[in-house]
Amino acid sequence: MSEFQHAEAIDVAVEHDVAPPPVVAIVGRPNVGKSTLVNRILGRREAVVEDVPGVTRDRVAYDATWSGRRFTVVDTGGWEPNAEGLAAAVADQARLAVDAADAVLFVVDATVGSTDTDEAVADVLRRAKKPVVLAANKVDDARAEADATALWSLGLGEPLPVSALHGRGSGDLLDAVLEALPEEAPPEAYGAAGGPRRIALLGRPNVGKSSLLNKLAGENRVVVDSVAGTTRDPVDELIELGGETWRFIDTAGIRRRVRESQGADFYATLRTRSALERSEVAVVLVDASEPLTEQDLRIISMVIESGRALVLAYNKWDLVDEERRHFLDREIDRQLHHARWAPRVNISARTGRHVEKLVPAIETALAGWGERVPTGRLNSFITDLVAARPHPVRGGKQPKILFATQASVQPPKFVLFTSGFLEAGYRRFVERRLREDFGFEGTPIEISMKIRE
Ligand code: GDP
Ligand code: GDP
Repeated sequence: MSEFQHAEAIDVAVEHDVAPPPVVAIVGRPNVGKSTLVNRILGRREAVVEDVPGVTRDRVAYDATWSGRRFTVVDTGGWEPNAEGLAAAVADQARLAVDAADAVLFVVDATVGSTDTDEAVADVLRRAKKPVVLAANKVDDARAEADATALWSLGLGEPLPVSALHGRGSGDLLDAVLEALPEEAPPEAYGAAGGPRRIALLGRPNVGKSSLLNKLAGENRVVVDSVAGTTRDPVDELIELGGETWRFIDTAGIRRRVRESQGADFYATLRTRSALERSEVAVVLVDASEPLTEQDLRIISMVIESGRALVLAYNKWDLVDEERRHFLDREIDRQLHHARWAPRVNISARTGRHVEKLVPAIETALAGWGERVPTGRLNSFITDLVAARPHPVRGGKQPKILFATQASVQPPKFVLFTSGFLEAGYRRFVERRLREDFGFEGTPIEISMKIRE
């Protein structure tokens, strides 16, 4: 194994995993007030109450915030009694909720008291290891509090009296829900601190990185920044472009030409990797006058794996003739299909042609990188998608997407809660549709699954 391959074998994906927001599933038999409670939790932003009991509707998920904490509420919603009857159907639903959720909010109608169906659900919940918050709903006034007390009999701890309709007790209930959720470390957003956005200029030797840097820095260099410099070379440069200041990462590494010596590739890979770690967006330069090389493709893959935004700059455009242009289109189709979403600019660092188009492309990529789809919209998208093209049946089983949530931005990461393993082709289909509907230009997207056992 060459040194270069060795460097590749080291995991180039920068570790910046963010857990999805915790999921709270609402369970309970029909008509106990689940939808009303969901509306209450969401501040009535999304009306979902059905007046007809037992009406089937899709399982839906929504973003919720309480005391500054974000979580996803899954309303296990309407369903119809299955062949084994109501209790069995609700118990099934509770099982699903328990598998997919971090905490369960079990709603019981305190004015009715616990029914056989409630008992069946309580049975499931008691056996599961997930935290459960028991809501004694329809406690509209102090007089009705006694009804709540009776629900201790379910064996799930203290019943919390609440009136989903009037809001009584809902704050305390939500406090209890938050308490039941696992701790979270708030994800730190890039660019939020107001510092200049960070660009890595990447590409194999001789594609024109330092020429481009010189062109850009020309009259625009604001400050040479040497904060992290351990040598006398400045590490990053702050360059003003399009009325904004940008931090170009490790420009010293670009200017200090790597000599064609043994192991140069290895060090170039290390440099690329560390520049990526510190950047938000990568501009990968390729030489448009020559066919794409393995090394070009490797660098592009490194960017995608690192989860950074990506812009492709086809440099030396002044050398591209008709014939080459024709080949280029085919080459892009064939070799860059995995980066089809990256904005492309055709530039010449030498003549300055279209260099001004870089900044809008970078801004587009950064916008896609930070894009978030609200959970409600995401789930109606998923519902439509599954209806239009369900997952193929495999071995007599058909995995379903139950609901989805966007766990993070920068880059966008989606978690699909499923009833079985979704094959890669189907996940790619989901990604393609996500891009068609929501954009995400210039950013890799990560899709993972949480499979219900
Ligand atoms: P779901 O089937 O569990 O989703 O129940 P819904 O939210 O659709 O509520 C069923 C019925 O109970 C509706 O007519 C609601 O207005 C009513 N309801 C819900 N919460 C309360 C409450 O706290 N007090 C009273 N009095 N009625 C409620
Ligand atoms: P680096 O190794 O990626 O930093 O590449 P350089 O900036 O040193 O450029 C390598 C060679 O390509 C130099 O001879 C440059 O003059 C030339 N070059 C860079 N950009 C262009 C361009 O847009 N057009 C042409 N014709 N030559 C270029």
